[in-house]
Amino acid sequence: MATNRTFTMLKPDAAANGYIGGILKMINDAGFRIVAMKYTKLSAEAAGKFYEVHKERPFYGELVTYMSSGPIVAAILEKENAIPAFRTLIGATDPAKADAGTIRKIYAKSISANAVHGSDSDENAQIEGNFFFSELERF
Ligand code: GDP
Repeated sequence: MATNRTFTMLKPDAAANGYIGGILKMINDAGFRIVAMKYTKLSAEAAGKFYEVHKERPFYGELVTYMSSGPIVAAILEKENAIPAFRTLIGATDPAKADAGTIRKIYAKSISANAVHGSDSDENAQIEGNFFFSELERF
């Protein structure tokens, strides 16, 4: 059953470049409600665990190093059909291929430093949200 929730991270490049406010405004304006949110930093070990599904992919090492290179914002977001709605808002993985007006088109520089994460399924949204947040941190 669809939960109407998704999980996002505003990645180290977004934080380092001062884009957190702009990206959160786009998320708010698109009608997502914030269920949980924190500003934190992943250790290399934690980033490796979070991205374990990509372990066999050639960019895994680069991804883990990058995602543990600086602070991030992690959040659970709620909206009807949250998973596809948020994937549409963020745009394609490679910002060069992202549609105009999407978060990645506006704020991302490259396929690795692509500003924002969005869950690809209800199951992964639950797993990823549970990685960062306890029940007491959700509202
Ligand atoms: P997403 O669901 O759009 O985030 O894309 P994927 O699940 O396919 O990949 C996860 C993350 O790995 C992406 O958001 C990128 O940060 C990174 N990534 C994906 N493909 C590449 C690649 O070809 N090279 C590098 N360096 N990073 C990649």
